Amino acid sequence: MSTYLDYNATAPLRAEARAAMLACFDAPGNPSSVHGAGRRASSQIAKARKILGYTLGAHPPDLVFTSGGTEANNLALLGLAKANNCTHIYVSAVEHSCIRQAAMASGLPVEFIPVTANGVIDLDVLQMHLDDLSHEACPLLALMAANNETGVIQPVQKATRMMYTANGHIHVDAVQAFGKMPVNLAVMGVDSLAVSAHKIGGPMGVGALVLTHGTKLAPMVFGGGQESGYRGGTENVPGIAGFAAATEAAIKDLDACDSIEMLRDHVQTRLLDIAPDALVVGGDAPRLCNTLCLATPGFTADTQLMAMDIAGFSISSGSACSSGKVRASVVMLAMNLPGDLASCAVRISLGKNTTRDELDAFADAWGEAYGRIALKESA
Ligand code: PLP
Repeated sequence: MSTYLDYNATAPLRAEARAAMLACFDAPGNPSSVHGAGRRASSQIAKARKILGYTLGAHPPDLVFTSGGTEANNLALLGLAKANNCTHIYVSAVEHSCIRQAAMASGLPVEFIPVTANGVIDLDVLQMHLDDLSHEACPLLALMAANNETGVIQPVQKATRMMYTANGHIHVDAVQAFGKMPVNLAVMGVDSLAVSAHKIGGPMGVGALVLTHGTKLAPMVFGGGQESGYRGGTENVPGIAGFAAATEAAIKDLDACDSIEMLRDHVQTRLLDIAPDALVVGGDAPRLCNTLCLATPGFTADTQLMAMDIAGFSISSGSACSSGKVRASVVMLAMNLPGDLASCAVRISLGKNTTRDELDAFADAWGEAYGRIALKESA
């Protein structure tokens, strides 16, 4: 049995989500049908919409279920830009590829706003861009609540004030933050926010976009008018029910963040004791409780991943979507890691079931591989 330390890639399915999904699988019914079976399916979606909506600080009717975080982010960026006649798109240089690529596909001028060495968006640069705009311009900013590779938390509220002062809009990708810190649309005060079920122990292939009431959004998937016309297609009823069940469980588990952070700090200290010249990427910024991104000179990410996999530990380099490619991640490059450290960064991400014993076993195996491979190669 391998030890799973890759919760930011996907979290194991929660028992509550599995049970909610199984109940739906056994009860056929298209939510658009008027008969009893259809009405029962439709009431599952209504119940889930309430749970997700209230949890995320939105009116339930202002929540659009999607096929995941990628689609929710695409819908937000393209749909907000189109419906609000946006003229410019700004995205932080460390956004997920689904945001970066949707921005590029929008046909609008796109600026990538740099981040500091700690991975936090440089708001002075954003302000310079906003100051240069004419009064007729309508800028749209996409900023993630927290980064998937480093866990670095972004100053969303400050950015929101800047965007609204400039008569613009802001979308927040909260896919990694949800379930690991408080996430609330009303508190953030942003136009829209994207979340994904599988990052919180729900099923893969389900997500949601929540909108502040009155936000204008153009649809991207056309069909039978489902999801208030914002997203056509028969809804994934079991997935949506599983998402709601995972949400309720994940919110209760937010209390465990402090103990997860202590475990994260414990493994961080142990690895730094073994390799004192390793860099905790984003270590001086506020970070998600469960995420450690460590760049170790002379110990490439690929080598670490393979050695740890053989030793029975699942960790990751960069985002899961780009793993398998032997190049440094966009996030590491944007953070300007010194020398070739960008290709030596791995992500260890913990979850509620991670134990201190597992982390000690991981540190022992990592130290053994480090001594055998990295220290030997540099000798
Ligand atoms: N945004 C962030 C920050 C992510 O980490 C991910 C997934 O890794 C996504 C978006 C995409 O979400 P999904 O896998 O649900 O499409």
